[in-house]
Amino acid sequence: MRAKASGGGGWSSSPRGERVPVAVLGATGAVGQTFIRLLDGHPLFEIAEVAASERSAGRPYAEAMTWHEGRLPPEVAGLTVLACDPRLVKSKVVFSALDASVAGEVEQAFAKAGAVVLSNAKNHRMDADVPLVIPELNADHLSLIDMQREKRGWSGAIVTNANCASTVVAVALGPLHAAFGIRQALIATMQAVSGAGYPGVASLDILGSVIPYIGGEEEKIEREVNKLLGTLGDGGVTPAPITISAHANRVPVEHGHTACMTVGFGRPVTPEEAVEVLTGWKGHAVCEGLPSAPADPLVVRSEPDRPQARKDVYSGGGMTTTVGRVRSDPLMHIRLVALSHNTVRGAAGGSILNAEVLGRMGKLPGVAQGAW
Ligand code: NAP
Repeated sequence: MRAKASGGGGWSSSPRGERVPVAVLGATGAVGQTFIRLLDGHPLFEIAEVAASERSAGRPYAEAMTWHEGRLPPEVAGLTVLACDPRLVKSKVVFSALDASVAGEVEQAFAKAGAVVLSNAKNHRMDADVPLVIPELNADHLSLIDMQREKRGWSGAIVTNANCASTVVAVALGPLHAAFGIRQALIATMQAVSGAGYPGVASLDILGSVIPYIGGEEEKIEREVNKLLGTLGDGGVTPAPITISAHANRVPVEHGHTACMTVGFGRPVTPEEAVEVLTGWKGHAVCEGLPSAPADPLVVRSEPDRPQARKDVYSGGGMTTTVGRVRSDPLMHIRLVALSHNTVRGAAGGSILNAEVLGRMGKLPGVAQGAW
C-alpha cells in the first residue's frame, strides 16, 4: 500500500500534524487484525482503541487473540480490549470488523453517539440511506450520509464497504458497465478460507476439497454489485439493471477471491474493446494520491494463466484487482477472470480508503476541510 511519509511535507489532519485517533471494533478477528496491520504507521490515522466481544474485553490485545498478520505493533499489543460500547470507546472514527450477529445494533449505537462508522458487515449495506462504497467506482454515493443524518437524526454516520466477493466482481465489471452497459453476468467465485474469518472453516473440511456453498454469498453478490454500480439520484441509489447469476465456492486458498465471469452487453463487445476500457480505467479522481489508494486500482494481465492468488493477491499492497483471460464467449459476449485480496481490498483496506476519501471531502470528524 502506498503511503506518503508523515514527516516534512507529508500528511496531517491538523496544523500540529496530529493523526486522527481511531477505534477498531472486532479487532481480534480476521478483518480486525488486517485493520491493525494496515493502520500501523498510517500517516493520517492512529489506533487509539480496540474493542471486541465480552470474551476478549479487559484483556491486553496481544493475549485476546491468535495473531496472524506478521509483526504485531507493540503500541497496540498492550492496549486493553474494550467492550463495543460507545460509552467506553471514545474515538469518533470507528472501523467495524464485527460479526454480523452484533454489527447492526452496535454500529447504530456508535453513529447515534456521533461516530462515523466504516463497516464491513452485511447488516446495513442495503439500507437505502447507507452508502455502499468502493470509492474508485462510486465515491459520489458517500453523499448519502447527509440523507442518513437527516432521516435518522444522528450526527454520526454508517458507511459500508461491500462483501469481499462483491468487491472483486464490481471492480472488474464497473468500468465495463460504465462503457458498454452490462445486461447479464454469470459469475462463479473461488473464495479463500480467510473470507470465513478465524477459526473459520475446519481444515478437515477444506483441505483437498472445494465446498460449493457459502451461506448468503450468492445473494449478496447479486444485490450488492447492482447497488455499487447504481446511479445516485435525489431519492437514493437506483440499482444497475444487471441480471446476475452467481455461484460461490470455498477453496483451499489462504487469501484472495477469484471470480470467473461471463458477461453480456446491450450490444456486442469484443475482448479488445473490453481490455482497452479496463486498461485505461483509473477510478474516481477523489482517490488520487490518498495513502491507501493503489497506483492502479485494476491491472490487466495478458498471460494465459493469470491472475493467480499466489502470484497476484498482494498487487498494489492487496488493493489492486487483477484481471486476466479476457476473451470472447459463445453464450454472451466476453469472459474474464478477476482476483482481489478479500481482507484488504474486500474489507479493511477498502474501509480505510473510504475513510480517507471522507476526510478529503471534509466529512470526517477531526479532519479540517481541505487538509488532505
Ligand atoms: P471473525 O474472524 O469471526 O471476527 C469477528 C469479530 O467480531 C471478532 O473480533 C469478535 O470478537 C467480534 N465479535 C463476535 N461476537 C461479538 C459480540 N457479541 N460483541 C462484540 N464483538 C463480537 O470474522 P471476520 O472474517 O473478521 O469478519 C468480520 C466482519 O467482516 C463480518 O461481518 C464479515 O462478514 C465481514 N467481512 C469479512 C471479510 C473476510 O474476508 N473475512 C470480508 C468482508 C467482510 P471476539 O474475538 O472477542 O469473539
